[in-house]
This record gives sequence, structure tokens and C-alpha cells, in this order.
Amino acid sequence: MAKLVEPHGGKGLTICLLEGAKLEAEKKKAKGLKKIEISQRVKGDLIMIGIGGFSPLTGFMTKADWKGVCDDFLLADGTFWPVPVTLDVSADDAGAISKGDEIALVDPKNNEIMATMKVTEKWAMSDEDKKYECEKIFMGEGTPTAKEFWKIAKEDHPGVQMVMNQKEICLAGPVKVLSEGNYPKKYAGIYQRPAESRKIFEKRGWSEVAALQLRNPMHRSHEYLAKIAVEVCDGVFIHSLVGNLKAGDIPAEVRVKCIDALVKNYFMEENVVQGGYPLDMRYAGPREGLLHATFRQNYGCSRMIIGRDHAGVGDFYGMFEAQTIFDKIPTPSEPGKALLCTPLKIDWTFYCKKCDGMASLRTCPHGKSDRVLLSGTMLRKGLSEGTEIPDHFGREEVLDILREYYAGLTEKVEIKTHSAATGQ
Ligand SMILES: [Zn+2]
Repeated sequence: MAKLVEPHGGKGLTICLLEGAKLEAEKKKAKGLKKIEISQRVKGDLIMIGIGGFSPLTGFMTKADWKGVCDDFLLADGTFWPVPVTLDVSADDAGAISKGDEIALVDPKNNEIMATMKVTEKWAMSDEDKKYECEKIFMGEGTPTAKEFWKIAKEDHPGVQMVMNQKEICLAGPVKVLSEGNYPKKYAGIYQRPAESRKIFEKRGWSEVAALQLRNPMHRSHEYLAKIAVEVCDGVFIHSLVGNLKAGDIPAEVRVKCIDALVKNYFMEENVVQGGYPLDMRYAGPREGLLHATFRQNYGCSRMIIGRDHAGVGDFYGMFEAQTIFDKIPTPSEPGKALLCTPLKIDWTFYCKKCDGMASLRTCPHGKSDRVLLSGTMLRKGLSEGTEIPDHFGREEVLDILREYYAGLTEKVEIKTHSAATGQ
């Protein structure tokens, strides 16, 4: 029988989330440890490490891992990894911590102890290091020189702002995760651990599964991407980000409702699985596309759908840079260390009036005026401002849910569009 793709790293799912008696004992111990407050991005990373979503990572990166990832897409042991996963703390906090200490990592939003960690390395993250990371991770074809990049990045790039606001010391070491936060409860039936999605796929007898990454409501072009995947794979995993987004983005619960309506009315339900994952967006475009493929491999997917401007923000990245980067990454020869989830590259898709259906730049010979060019940002702007949404932009069942959501909003957030409005 054909099998699902193995988890990344060649070590199976490296699960660091404790359960049962071990969890209770560790929770008790954690109360007496020095407490460190973590950022929301770190919280998401921590949960992913806990549930095996970031396999083979079992903790936060050392300086050698960080440098290897920035420079060569490789951890210090030679395993492929596309973006830094670091734990930042203030110099004050770090001053009271020595190598070998155990600490407790706390979510400041509700004071919950999320994990314990054994500190194996304490390393400085200077402003120069932060800038270095930003240029390596976020600089794309849209801003090919450091000068152009920095001219707009500090103001307009939320990923850059996140890195530059990090505290000055990083702590590395293995973690024991004690909680998945409120995700299992808040997103019951949607939030899954990789072991759970793998079980669902196996039960359906799937081996080739394509993941569709979503952070915007699912509109016609996403539906088309998912359907292309269903045609060429055993099934599609519609996987929504349920972590934090930018102001003005649509909450996960609304997006999940939209997907439900779409799947119920326009898909063969047995060929679709819906899920959610707890990360925040990094807006790292091509690098984030690689991260999406890496953790989808852990969730059991062998293909990652990469469309136009995947995980982009503003005009920082080339339209298809998140596709071409897959051709440029190193392929470690040691078993398990290479990325096995391959991209399903799909061109810019849209509804074309002359084609009388969904099409892409590869299939449609017609002009711009015949096409309804879809983008999540434009859709949100239209809905937010109450203007008419052009025909074929989204399905009525989905638009109804979105209109209801916007009608209930008391505070309107201005939505900026760019010359290449971002999709996904
Ligand atoms: Zn056409």
C-alpha cells in the first residue's frame, strides 16, 4: 500500500508536547522555575514544536543553526530549514539565566506557562544580526538591493518589524511543551496535530496529498487551485492559518465558515480535508512558502500548492518567486534531511469571461479586460467599503458570510492595496 510522505528530518514526528502524568509533573516543576515572557510569534512556534509540526526541531535555534538557516537554508547538522525559529529575551532576563538552567516560558496574555526549556546556549542578537536576518529572509525581487529594501521595509513590512523589535539575547535549547493554548478548544474540529491529519489521510487511503495554504477567505481562484490539486493528487488539505494576522484581516472562524460553505456546495467532500495550524504570519514570501511546505510534509502532505505571490506582503516579492525558490534550495543527500514536499506550481488564476470559466495565464489567451482578477486584498477592501463585488469574484454562499461579518464590525480598518495586490 502506498504511504504518506515521511515527516521532515528523518526522525519521525518529534513530539515535545507532554501528556498525562509527565505533563502534571512538569507543570508542577515549572511553577518553581524562572519565568520568561514570550512573544505571540514564539508561542505559535512553540506549539508547532510541541505537536511535531516543526519536526525535526525540538527546541529553539542555536546561533550556528540561525546562521546556517539564514545563509544556506540548513541547520547546523545539515538538515534543510528555511526560516529562523529563535527565542528572544531581554538582556535583563538573560542576565539571571545561565547555560544549563531550566526556565519556564509564559504567555503574557494570560500568564499561562506554555513550556519549560533547558538552556544550552545564550547568544547575542545585535541590531546588525537582526538586519542581516531581515535581508536574508525578507529581501526579494521587489526590493533587490538593501537600499531599496530598507527604504520601505521598516514602515511597510510586518515581518521585518517583528524581527527588528526582537529583544537582544536569544536562548537555545530543547523544550517540553505543556499547552497548546486555546487552539484545541477555540478551533475544535479544525485545529489538528500532524499525527491527527496523517491518521485522517491514511483512513481515506491517500498517499499523495496537496496542501492549500489559506489566510484569506477562500474565493474562486483558491477553489480552482484546490480543484486542480484534487485532479492530480488523492486529495487536498485546505489548511488555514489560525494564529495572529495583521489588523484588517478576517478572523479564522469566519474563514473556516466560508470554507465549510464552499466545500459543502462545490466540492466532492470525500476529496477534501480541512484543518488549521497555530502559527502567525511571518510575511516572508518565498522563504515562508518553503516553511509552509516543510511543516505540511509533517502534516502528511507531499505537495504544496504555490500560486501567485505566496505569503507575500506589499510589493516585496516577485509574483512567482515563491515557486522558483524551490529550484534553488540545497538538497542534502543524507536520508530525511532534504525537503520532500514538492511545490505544485500554478500560474495566476482568474475567471475569464471569454473562456467562460476559471483559467490561468497558461491557459487563457484573452486580455486583461476579459478577466476578473481576484485578490484577497481587493475583496476585503470591497466588502469593507460596501461596494459591489464583481460577478465570479467569489461564490454567493461565501460572500453572504463575509457581508454578514463586515456588517457586524463596529470599527473599520482601512485596507491598503498595492500595484500587485497580494493574494493567498
Ligand atoms: Zn480567457
